Amino acid sequence: MRTAEENQELANLLFPNHNTSVEDLFERYPKRNIEKGEMILRFAPSPTGFLHIGSVYTGMICTKLSKQSGGLAILRIEDTDKKREVEDGVTMIVNGLKGFGISFDEGPSDDKNQKGEYGPYIQSQRLDIYKTFAKEIVKKGNAYPCFISEEELISIRKEQKSLGVRTGYYGKWAKWRDASLEEIKKELDKGTPYVIRLYSTGSIDNTFEMIDLIKGKVTLRENDMDAVLLKSDGFPTYHFAHPIDDTLMGITLVTRGDEWFPSVPLHFEIFQKLGLEQIPYAHFSPLMKVDHEGKSKRKLSKRKDPEADVSFYINHGYPKEAVIEYLLNLANSNFSDWRIQNPDKSHNEFVLKIEKFNKAGSLFDIVKLSDMCKDYISTLSAQQVYENCLEWAKLHDSKIEKLLLENKEYCISIFNIERSGAKIRKDIVKFEDCKEQLALFFDELFIGEYEDILEMVSKEIQKEILSEYKKIYSTKDNEVEWFEKVKELSKKLGFSTDRKEYEANKEKFKGTVGDVAMVLRVAITGRTKSPNLYQVMLVLGEEKVMQRLDKYISYISKMV
Ligand code: GLU
Repeated sequence: MRTAEENQELANLLFPNHNTSVEDLFERYPKRNIEKGEMILRFAPSPTGFLHIGSVYTGMICTKLSKQSGGLAILRIEDTDKKREVEDGVTMIVNGLKGFGISFDEGPSDDKNQKGEYGPYIQSQRLDIYKTFAKEIVKKGNAYPCFISEEELISIRKEQKSLGVRTGYYGKWAKWRDASLEEIKKELDKGTPYVIRLYSTGSIDNTFEMIDLIKGKVTLRENDMDAVLLKSDGFPTYHFAHPIDDTLMGITLVTRGDEWFPSVPLHFEIFQKLGLEQIPYAHFSPLMKVDHEGKSKRKLSKRKDPEADVSFYINHGYPKEAVIEYLLNLANSNFSDWRIQNPDKSHNEFVLKIEKFNKAGSLFDIVKLSDMCKDYISTLSAQQVYENCLEWAKLHDSKIEKLLLENKEYCISIFNIERSGAKIRKDIVKFEDCKEQLALFFDELFIGEYEDILEMVSKEIQKEILSEYKKIYSTKDNEVEWFEKVKELSKKLGFSTDRKEYEANKEKFKGTVGDVAMVLRVAITGRTKSPNLYQVMLVLGEEKVMQRLDKYISYISKMV
């Protein structure tokens, strides 16, 4: 065991010329002046070049909870793992979140600029701060330098396994824990690389209770691992940086992913050994997915699921508002009832409650998300759909962009089809779908392939229907008049206009008025399913309708 004086000497030996004290830091970062109930929360992603939809979820929760309490949301970049880092990682995170309307009161606004008085908000710029605390914790005898090599660690692990005991660096296995000052000096002189480890005094035979704001009261075993606090390159581990940063930034509640829950005993001990007041926790369960066989649930995975990546939503033009509403629904399932009761309010008015969070993992279901997107887009005006499509096309499809810009009014009238009245169209999930919507109306996009309906109506009869229709088609008809004409035409050509009558005497008819309408639909739109045909024709205009009819007639005429 080293004496108090020896630990003091050790601290000076490890951190010579480092004179900032913990007190200096508390002066530089004074306690925030906040009212009761105000929450100071942080979102702390690592810049790995990949933004997971789960990050949008936790980022949204953090900013929403803090804003609705009158507090502040902070963005902190945790870039202490240099191996995983990518260039422009910070800008990517900030812009990715901003795209979903998530922004912070303090933190980086890109790779170069930061706002707020409690920075720097990028961990790699805070190394001096960690050093101050590391010196202090060594001085108190609560941490020590450890010179163990990778090979030695592997062989300890092997031995632990063969003895059937817990693996890890703890208790009697922690070889450098109680090394004498002389032994340590010897290694320092040799220049042996070292890390700083916690001198744990916990025991797994002891338990303690804590309250997690989502999980409730839980009983945990104490930590007894001498975890690494400072790596040999001077960077802190997550375990060391978390209590320090969250304390100095004045965080009132640590909201973070469930994967950190097993580390809570270690974090409790580090807070205590640093002499810092424990900050409460709320651990969110991860977003889950039902595996395709439908049998098991698993985490939404960056590797396996394209929908885990935020760029998936951006590239396809999913409406961001609807994605956020879907995530709100996963966080607090009462959101959907609220939405029904408040159809016109912005989701910003919904009050998110920590106590209503799902304890088990929330199921992320792209089909449900798509349904919400459809519903959302159905509430937009044709003009808004146009603007959103244009915004998407500007970044992702220059051909569509050009077409939208050059034919603004025509495109708006296309998006206006079935956008009012009793039955509002719900066939657009994402703004990328506008390509398909427009395809029908622009000859340059109209694929000359038609869906086959020969099984329903023969080629000859189709031709007959179309040539007769050309005679009666008039742009002056309203929808009722138009349909009456189609019915008359059907009767004239031997089709029934009454389903029951047809079912009773099938042999008397060539088919029903539905078959006739289908022939018209396929000729004009190429598809068996289309928006309201009357409205489609209205938007296309007489000339184009006639051209389409002729084109189809010549197509089926050439068929063998
Ligand atoms: N950088 C950590 C992560 O990305 C943050 C965890 C936390 O919020 O404390 O998992």
